[in-house]
Amino acid sequence: MNTLIRLPGLVDVHVHLREPGGEHKETFASGTAAALAGGVTTVLAMPNTSPPLTDAETFGLARARARAGARCDYGLFLGATAANLELPADLPGQAAGLKVYVNETFGPLRLESLPVVLAHLQRWRGPGPVAVHAEGLMVPALTALSALTGRPVHICHVSRAAELAVIRLAKEHGYPVTCEVTPHHLWLTEADLPELGPLGLMRPPLASAADRDALWANLDVVDCIATDHAPHTLAEKHSTTPPPGVPGLETLLPLLLTAVHERRLTLDRLVDLTNTRPRTIFRLPAQPETYVEADTAEHWTLPPSGWHTQCDWSPFAGMPVVGRVARTVVRGRLAYDGGHVLASPGSGQNVREE
Ligand SMILES: [Zn+2]
Repeated sequence: MNTLIRLPGLVDVHVHLREPGGEHKETFASGTAAALAGGVTTVLAMPNTSPPLTDAETFGLARARARAGARCDYGLFLGATAANLELPADLPGQAAGLKVYVNETFGPLRLESLPVVLAHLQRWRGPGPVAVHAEGLMVPALTALSALTGRPVHICHVSRAAELAVIRLAKEHGYPVTCEVTPHHLWLTEADLPELGPLGLMRPPLASAADRDALWANLDVVDCIATDHAPHTLAEKHSTTPPPGVPGLETLLPLLLTAVHERRLTLDRLVDLTNTRPRTIFRLPAQPETYVEADTAEHWTLPPSGWHTQCDWSPFAGMPVVGRVARTVVRGRLAYDGGHVLASPGSGQNVREE
C-alpha cells in the first residue's frame, strides 16, 4: 500500500531565525534547512533580533542576510517600538507584517503604552496584518483595538482556553481578528515541566491540561498552526538564566500527521491551518510546483539530536509519532530528500519581492 501523500508546502508564520546577532543559535541558512526538513517552504521571521528590525537600516541588513542565506521562501516582520511610528512609506510593503509585543518576551521590543499601540494600529499600511504577542487580558484589549480601528490583528501563539474563547466571540462579531497556536501548546503542558526542565520554558509558558484540551476542542476557531521556532543553544538553556523558546520547525508535520493518524485532525484541515489560511491572512504569493511528500505510515520516535536546526535539540524528544517528511520540492526543484537538505543558501525568495 502506498502511504506517501503529497501536501502543499507548509507556511510557518512565526519563526525566529536569529540573524542578525544570534548566529550562534541559528542562521537563515540553518533555520531554513530545518524548515525544508520539516516540509515548510515559507517562513515568516520575527524581528526580535539584535539589533531588532525596527527601521529601514536594520530591516535592510536582515533582508540582505536573508537573501544570501535562506534556502526556502521567507518574509521578515518589522518590530513596533515607541520610536518608529513614522516608518518610511515603502517599508510596510516590504515586511511580512508588523509585530507588536505587549507581553513579556525575549528581547527589548515590549510596548506598554496604549497611545503607541493604538497609533501603530491606526497607521500600519502593510499588506500583512499586525501580529501581536498578547496574553491574558491583553487578548481582549488587542481584539477591541482591532475592532475599533478596523485593522486586521493576528494574535500569536494563543495558549489558554479563555483567550481562545475571546477570539471566538470576536470572530462571531465579525472583528478582523485571526490567531495561531503552536505545537508545543497543543502537545505539552505544565505537567511536562519537571521532565523538560529549562527545555520546557517558552513564552507564553506551557499551560494546564485543561487549556491544552481547549485548544484541541476549539481548533475550529484557530487559523494557523505556527511553530514559534525559537532556538537557543543547549548551553544557554541549561544556564542559570535560561532564555525562553524552543525549536519546532522539524517536528511540526510529524506531530500534525500523528494527529491525523489519531483522527484528531483531518488532512484537509491540516492543509487549511498550515497553508491556505496563512497565505490568505498574510497575503502571500502562490508557490508553483511546491510541495512536501510525507510517509503517513512511518512510526518513529522524535530523537534528542540529529536535527538540522543549529541548536540541535527538541522539546518533543522521545515522543512517538506516525508520519515523516520524505522530500520537499520548491518550485519544481528537490530541496530536501531523505534526510538531506539539497537547496542551497540564497535559493529562497522574499515573499514581498517579485
Ligand atoms: Zn515568537
